[in-house]
Amino acid sequence: MTSFSQYNFANQRALIRVDFNVPLNDKYEITDDTRMRAAVPTIRKILADGGSVILMSHLGRPKDGPADKYSLKHLVPHLKELLNRVRNLTGRPGGVDSPGPQTANDPRGKPADALVNVFFVDDCIGEKAEQAAQSLKPGQVLLLENLRFYKEEEKGDKTFAGKLAKLGTVYVNDAFGTAHRAHASTAVIAEFFPKDKRMFGLLMESEVKSAEKVLHQAKKPFAAIIGGAKVSDKILIIENLLERATDIIIGGGMAYTFMKAQGGKIGNSLCEEDRLEMALGLLKKAEEKGVCIHLPSDSIIADKFDAAANDSTAPSNNIPDGWMGLDIGENACEQFTNVIHRSKTILWNGPMGVFEMAKFQRGTKCIAKAVAEATAKGAFSLVGGGDSVAAVNQFGYADKVSYVSTGGGAMLEYFEGKTLPGIAAIQD
Ligand code: AMP
Repeated sequence: MTSFSQYNFANQRALIRVDFNVPLNDKYEITDDTRMRAAVPTIRKILADGGSVILMSHLGRPKDGPADKYSLKHLVPHLKELLNRVRNLTGRPGGVDSPGPQTANDPRGKPADALVNVFFVDDCIGEKAEQAAQSLKPGQVLLLENLRFYKEEEKGDKTFAGKLAKLGTVYVNDAFGTAHRAHASTAVIAEFFPKDKRMFGLLMESEVKSAEKVLHQAKKPFAAIIGGAKVSDKILIIENLLERATDIIIGGGMAYTFMKAQGGKIGNSLCEEDRLEMALGLLKKAEEKGVCIHLPSDSIIADKFDAAANDSTAPSNNIPDGWMGLDIGENACEQFTNVIHRSKTILWNGPMGVFEMAKFQRGTKCIAKAVAEATAKGAFSLVGGGDSVAAVNQFGYADKVSYVSTGGGAMLEYFEGKTLPGIAAIQD
């Protein structure tokens, strides 16, 4: 496989699939730019080599072709600001550029501290896009319009992928968040580039490396912490982890289905009645394989699903009628912390309770702290999946774990043992 870091992009037009699917408010302001920031190192390396960059992404879920609401043009000023934040020593304000003749004072093309121009084209294929791509000079960036304005993108249409491929001389996939989709720009496009001209970007490289470290090269003991609302969403990941983990810690709403399956009394706690047998099956399989499943011994219970509910503590398998478990209890925190502290590899997906409400966030916070402590002692820890990522960020532990994944759905599917089309297209 071609190594991004070792590749020299001088005079190449790098077509990068990024994940710029960022949330926008009703004034089209970006409310969380994490995904855009994550792509910056890849873009910078290409520009520093003397290459130019063409960025393609989707944004939102447009239904019927182009819609202003989903236009990537809204991202241009911020992209420009991000790319110029460190390098822009000229103090020039950022803004939307359009390609045009270069004037004597135009900083385009100047190395190192030059202003990075970000152009935008209101299509992602066709003559206009091709012209904009071909007129790029080394050091310049072009952002294409939303890929999903064409239905062909999600269908993985080969002709559409071919039209996209015409824009670049090298293909870089840096969109781990969409790696589980066999779309035109994430997978199909790769076949239009020879092996030495298709590669992962830096973000994708580190996501894949971290995920492989946990799934295929885990140092034992390996603890997987699985939480969240529903067992049904996590069955496949638990099944796959039964083949690999030493310990599986189960918290969050899903724990109560396991409690009930074992004959426990769970009051009004979350329960998937149609999954009781399956939960018992997983426990049995774990026993056969010598994997230790840890369920929370006690819970913080509430008399309603409300931030202002009355709360108390109860054994997780003996919750009074009319009450529900909304967080793991103090004993469970200690029980789980001990397992985490003795682990050398840790995977965490899903919160331990309703961490969005102050009264029920202690368990999730306690797990974040334990994972950080184990990491400080040398364990490798990976946090993946929307809500656990939000939790480590919220509680200030994001820089105290080994890796925080940007790809929720993609990371989950990876840990379910599935082949991700975006990864396979580059690795094959
Ligand atoms: P998931 O998307 O499946 O990882 O679930 C995350 C959601 O599960 C969060 O919004 C939590 O508030 C919710 N959750 C966690 N524990 C519980 C619980 N004991 N009862 C109800 N919801 C929970």
